[in-house]
Amino acid sequence: MSELNKVENQFKEKIKSFLNQNSFNTWIKPVKVVNIEGEVVSFQVPSKIHIDYIRGQYRSVFEKTLKDILGNENISIKFLIDSDTDFSFETKQETGTVVKKAKDLHKGRVAPYKETSLNPKYTFENFVMGNGNETAYVSSLQVAQNIRNTQYNPLLIFGGVGLGKTHLVSAIGNHAFNHDPGMKILYMTSDIFVFQIINHIKNKTIDEYKAYLRTKDLIIIDDIQFFAKKDKSMEELFHIFNYIYNSGGQIVLTSDFHPNEIHELDDRLKSRFKMGLITDVRPPDLETRAAIIRLKAEEINFTLEDDIVMFIANNINTNVRDLEGAVKKLYFYYSHFNKEISINKAKEILKELITSKKSSLNIDKIQDIVSEFFSIPKDLLIKKTRTKEVAEARAVAMYLCTTQLKSTTTSIGVHFGNREHSTVSHAAAKIQKKLSAKDPETTKMIDEILNVINLSTC
Ligand code: ADP
Ligand code: MG
Repeated sequence: MSELNKVENQFKEKIKSFLNQNSFNTWIKPVKVVNIEGEVVSFQVPSKIHIDYIRGQYRSVFEKTLKDILGNENISIKFLIDSDTDFSFETKQETGTVVKKAKDLHKGRVAPYKETSLNPKYTFENFVMGNGNETAYVSSLQVAQNIRNTQYNPLLIFGGVGLGKTHLVSAIGNHAFNHDPGMKILYMTSDIFVFQIINHIKNKTIDEYKAYLRTKDLIIIDDIQFFAKKDKSMEELFHIFNYIYNSGGQIVLTSDFHPNEIHELDDRLKSRFKMGLITDVRPPDLETRAAIIRLKAEEINFTLEDDIVMFIANNINTNVRDLEGAVKKLYFYYSHFNKEISINKAKEILKELITSKKSSLNIDKIQDIVSEFFSIPKDLLIKKTRTKEVAEARAVAMYLCTTQLKSTTTSIGVHFGNREHSTVSHAAAKIQKKLSAKDPETTKMIDEILNVINLSTC
């Protein structure tokens, strides 16, 4: 084993013991030690996001661990991006050396980022408010506008993965900072917070650490569901929370679950949290999903046709991260092949992202669900009946068949009483047009039916 590999293994082994599995796998596992020259240790990381995140969250952990391993107090760290794995847009389009890319990333935003660890990318302006996140958005904005003077202390946002919790709480920090650059803000993930506490207890510097926290106007702690496992520090945590609270500092927290569901969480902490505001984020509805897709595309100057936007919104309803993933995938194709993307191409590119659970769905099932939804006997959907209501239900069913299944319009037509493929396309386009025009009734209806479809295919 080479010297570099040895250092890398020891480094990972040590760091692993402080971090939760999730953080370790995401941020630490993929890094490689690629060079040690004098006091400079170079790490190769998969993306610019890793650099941002590691610099913000893990800098002191990295430095301390390397000092221990190498027995040198003056270690400095360099990051290089592995250009084979970095799919972030900026770096793909850039030329120049890998090292240059890593440096460029921090132009102009080093100071606040270094002090606060906030991700400058996350603001209220680029957050789509919609059904599912409205209360969380509004209360976050209120807190951001009234730091040190809010009724919501702490503010706790909970909800599933990829639904915008980190985005929202970072937006609070960025907003507060932009309006008052003198504002003292600190963002930490819970494992870093716990790491700091344990370390300061060990070094008998916990009072200094508390005094440091007390200088902050706003402290954001992300992902507190991980507090649960670190019971050793729980006692101290409670005191620290009280201490910050009593000194008037605003605390903002996120968690994947409601505190009541974090069974190992100290009861006193739970009741402390309940003295503030606990609000949730839920998966976005169809209209919000479409708006998010448009925004994410716009942010990278990528134009997506309405039918593609609706295709993604219809088919990916898990979380926002997955919506973003779909946009990135299409953009990746577009920028590499420099080709406009047709709806069929988009379907093909996104095939793997669209959940395979849909495999049990077929035309017959969609007809069942739609007939139930409209309370219309299924055979009317298939027969030539032309009453307005039946025609609408039929168009909806055809639309869903074209967007949810791989079947051709010809085969869909066959299942609808041998209708022409153009009739199917025409009916589907009619619904598509209403969705594109944000017709509220149609949007709500399609969203509800899609929910039934998703439940029935779980
Ligand atoms: P969580 O912390 O809840 O797991 P994140 O805040 O990391 O989720 O969000 C995942 C991704 O989705 C981020 O890139 C974020 O910018 C984006 N995102 C989530 N919700 C929204 C929204 N409502 N509008 C715009 N982007 C969003
Ligand atoms: Mg998060």
